[in-house]
Amino acid sequence: MKKILNFIDGQYVEPLQGSYFPNINPATGKVIGQVAEGSPEDIDRAVEAARRAFKGPWGQMSLNARLDALERVASGILARFDEFLRAEMLDTGKPASFASRIDIPRGAANFRFFANLMRGQHSAAFETDTPDGRGALNYTIRRPLGVVGVISPWNLPLLLLTWKVAPALAAGNCVVAKPSEETPSTAALLGEVFNEAGIPPGVFNVVQGAGPGSAGEALTRHPDIDAITFTGESRTGSAIMEACAPHVRNISFELGGKNAAIVFADANLQEAIDGTARSTFSNTGQVCLCSERVYVQRPIFEEFVAGLAARARGLRVGDPFDEATQMGPLISQAHRDKVLSYFELARSEGAEVITGGGIPELGGALKEGAFVEPTIWTGLAPDARTVREEVFGPVCHIHPFDTEEEAVALANDSDYGLCAAIWTHDLRRAHRVAARMDVGLVWVNTWFLRDLRTPFGGVKLSGIGREGGTHSLDFYTETRNICIKL
Ligand code: NAD
Repeated sequence: MKKILNFIDGQYVEPLQGSYFPNINPATGKVIGQVAEGSPEDIDRAVEAARRAFKGPWGQMSLNARLDALERVASGILARFDEFLRAEMLDTGKPASFASRIDIPRGAANFRFFANLMRGQHSAAFETDTPDGRGALNYTIRRPLGVVGVISPWNLPLLLLTWKVAPALAAGNCVVAKPSEETPSTAALLGEVFNEAGIPPGVFNVVQGAGPGSAGEALTRHPDIDAITFTGESRTGSAIMEACAPHVRNISFELGGKNAAIVFADANLQEAIDGTARSTFSNTGQVCLCSERVYVQRPIFEEFVAGLAARARGLRVGDPFDEATQMGPLISQAHRDKVLSYFELARSEGAEVITGGGIPELGGALKEGAFVEPTIWTGLAPDARTVREEVFGPVCHIHPFDTEEEAVALANDSDYGLCAAIWTHDLRRAHRVAARMDVGLVWVNTWFLRDLRTPFGGVKLSGIGREGGTHSLDFYTETRNICIKL
C-alpha cells in the first residue's frame, strides 16, 4: 500500500514516532494509502531545517535566482499535471471536470504569479526637511519574516496550499506546511517538484498529520515560527489564535462563510440561475465562497426556485473519473454525517425541501462513497440554525424579499462575512448594494471570478487580514524604514 511520508530538509522521511493513519478515497470509501502522523518532534526537525535554509542558501540567494526557481516549480507542476490531478481526485473525489480546470492549473499559477509580482516590487522613498536645512532621506525595504507555518484545508488542497506557500517563498521566507489530514497527496508530491526545480533542502517542508494534539497544533505552538497563515474553519482559527498568543505571533486567517446571493427582479434570470447553481453546488458545495443563503426578489421568486431546482436535479452526480460527472462526493463519511444532520435539522426547523435532502442511489464501487443529493430549502426563519451555521455541502436556502433595504439587512444578518454575489442589471443599485455588504469580497453578476492581484479575505468570523497581490507581500514581509541624515 502507498505510504505518504513527511518531506523534511529535501528528503522523504518516516515519522519519528512511526505512526500512520489511513488515506481514504471518499468516492469509494476505500483505503488508498497510509499517511505519516507527524508529531512535535517531526515539527522540530522541519522548523530547524527551514531555519537553516533561511540563514543559509535560500536567504543568500539573489532575488532573481530565487524567483526563477519558483517559476520552475510552476512548470514542474504542469509537467506532472496528470499525476497531480489523479492524486487530488483520489484524495477528494473531485470530478476531473473541476480539478483539471481549477485545482491543478491554479496551483501552478500561484507560483508564477507571485514570482512575477515580486520581480516588479520597488521601495518607497521620502525626502524629509530638517531644521539645519540639509534634510534626510527615508526609504523603506521589505525583509522576509523567516520561517512561516502554513496550515491548509482539504477543499482545494493544492490551490490553497500554494496560495500561501508561493508568496511566502517569493518574499524570501522558508515554509513548514501542514496540509489537511484528509488530503495529504498533492502536498507530498510537491516536495518532488521542489527537488527537481533545484530549490535548496529545507526551503519547503511538509509535515503530515491532524490538527489538535498533532502536527498542526505543534506547528502553531513552536517557539521558532515567525508567522502562521491558516485557511480553515472559524473555530480552528480561534484555537490557533490562542496557541499563537504567547509568542505574539503574526497570523493571517481565511475562515468559514455563510455567504449570501441576492437576486433582484431586474436581473437576467437565466444568468442568475446558472450563476447560483455554480455558486451553490461547485465542488459539492465545499468552497468557502459558496452561496448557502439566496435572497430572491418576490416577483421572480417562484420562477427562480423552479429554475434552480431544475438545475440541481439535472446535475450528474457520480464517478469523479467520468468526464461527464458534475458533482462528486463530500470529503468524508464524517463530513457526510454532518451535512445529513443539517438536512434533518432543516426539516425540524420547518424547511420545505424543494429538491434533494438525502443520499443519491449510486451502485457499484460508489455505494460506499460519501455522496449526498444537491439540496434546496425554502421557508426557514432568519434565526434558524440552518440559515446561520455553515453547512459546507451542496445546499442553499432561498428566501423572498421585497425591497433593497430588506435584502441588505437579510444578507448582512450573519456572524460570517466572507463574500456576497449580487445579481442585477441596475448599475446604480449594484454599486450601492455592493458597498453596503459586510464582507470582504462582492461579485456582481458573477461568482468566484478571481484576479490574483486583488485583496482576498473576510470580515467577522470569516477571517483576519487580506492576502492576494501586494496584500500577501505585506503579510509575508516586514517593512523596514531607513532614515539617512544628509
Ligand atoms: P479545519 O479547520 O477543520 O482544518 C483546516 C486545517 O487546520 C487542517 O490542516 C487541520 O488539520 C488543521 N487544524 C485543525 N485543528 C487545528 C489546531 N487546533 N491547530 C492547528 N491546526 C489545526 O477546516 P477544514 O474542514 O479542513 O476546511 C473547511 C473549512 O475551511 C470551512 O469552514 C471553509 O469555509 C473554510 N475555508 C475557508 C477559506 C477562505 O479562504 N476563507 C477557503 C477554504 C476553506
